[in-house]
Amino acid sequence: MPLASTYNKTMSIVVVGSVAYDGVETPHGRVERMLGGSCTYIALAASYFTKVRIVAVVGDDFAQEDVDLLASRNIDLEGLERTAGKTFFWQGVYSQDMNDRDTLRTDLNVFEHFDPKLPASYKSEPYLLLGNIQPALQRSVRGQMAKPRITGGDTMNLWIEHFRGELLQTLQGWDFLLINDGEARMLSGEKNLRRAARAIQAMGPRTVVIKRGEYGAILFHGDDYFIVPGYLLETVFDPTGAGDCFAGGFTGYLAQQGIDLADGTIDRRELSRAVIFGSVMGSFCCERFGVDRFRTLTREEIDARFQEFKTFTDF
Ligand code: AMP
Repeated sequence: MPLASTYNKTMSIVVVGSVAYDGVETPHGRVERMLGGSCTYIALAASYFTKVRIVAVVGDDFAQEDVDLLASRNIDLEGLERTAGKTFFWQGVYSQDMNDRDTLRTDLNVFEHFDPKLPASYKSEPYLLLGNIQPALQRSVRGQMAKPRITGGDTMNLWIEHFRGELLQTLQGWDFLLINDGEARMLSGEKNLRRAARAIQAMGPRTVVIKRGEYGAILFHGDDYFIVPGYLLETVFDPTGAGDCFAGGFTGYLAQQGIDLADGTIDRRELSRAVIFGSVMGSFCCERFGVDRFRTLTREEIDARFQEFKTFTDF
């Protein structure tokens, strides 16, 4: 099948998650406050593949230039609620090799009472990507959608440790889960990643992508698997949002191709390509601080890096 490298105008992805301000320190520098959030990164990455409609909340401090950036990528902001108070704030610091990070501060602010309400125009969209927020909120959004072709998302250690019951209930309705290796082990109780993936598949999602940071990712689908290395960036400036951009690229590609995971007839190579596009988007994200790379990134650059992946994995 030829690679459809064109934006698909007829499909839409609904994305829920955080729209935030982040303070980030890496060995390459420090930014006190910049646009971030799981929904923001996912939406920016997916917007290169298809229309994106976001559901999130911000405070009255949310800057017009940040609204403008999202709008400039044709992201539908009808579901972006603005309430009195401050926007969610997260602060983190990375280790020297940037494989670990410590959260220094999480101020929920307006996020604390967030009760996502989907605009009527979102409810019958075919693709739903549930960014990393409390599992009960993810479930509430899924419940408001008519009948998405594909539902999937992300989670994190906080929810696995402290909201396990809610998370397990939420995962039952998902077609795919994107999760990093440490969290996959935590969620499944299995050290071995193959066993971990199988255990997670038994929780609901038939497709599980285990992300391994700079080392790449493994896709598990039914009994099949596909392994992809990480893109060898010369300099990683800021890994914040890379996982979310992976999710945006992965789901964006599935939506661009109009794929339906639920009918069980998915061409495995299409899923593999989705993992490559996820890796491509994650790698671009790390090239600048915060969302800066998305101010200039083009679809041509994305497709060129996809081809590079083909070249360096061919033997
Ligand atoms: P990632 O590097 O892909 O894990 O995503 C980082 C983004 O997640 C940052 O921009 C943060 O604003 C956001 N974030 C961090 N903690 C949370 C949380 N507890 N809930 C929602 N979003 C969060």
